Amino acid sequence: MKSCDEVKKRIGELAALPAVELPAGIHEHLAGCAACTRALAAARLGRGLLAAAGDGVEPPTGFADRVLGALPDRTPSRAEAELWRLGWGLVPAFAAMAVLFFILYQASPTSGPIGLVPAEGLSAGERLVLEASPPEPDAVLAAVMEGSGT
Ligand SMILES: [Zn+2]
Repeated sequence: MKSCDEVKKRIGELAALPAVELPAGIHEHLAGCAACTRALAAARLGRGLLAAAGDGVEPPTGFADRVLGALPDRTPSRAEAELWRLGWGLVPAFAAMAVLFFILYQASPTSGPIGLVPAEGLSAGERLVLEASPPEPDAVLAAVMEGSGT
């Protein structure tokens, strides 16, 4: 029987393997450990999404021209069309990150994404962003007064 630490240490390697090729000891551990099963599923999904993003998704034909054409009194240039194409390529990467953060949020043992980082190390501004509950006016004021958070 493997330990959670061992699964965590090898999670990148394990996520790259198809489920049937996982070492027997890992299989055994996953069968009895929901936390590691979730962590591995998240790592696997993240890999898959990033791989899909890496394949490069092409925008629909004429996408850049249509967008630029919709702008008043502008002639689309090559550089602008290229910029739109690059921007479109980032969409799957952003989607992958959003899904990953959602999974991490779900898998976190404490409630809310603040469980992922030690709360004591956060600035008022970071707390505001990370805490799940609606911010208190006092907290908003503290974050504003804090400025850059340094
Ligand atoms: Zn475990």
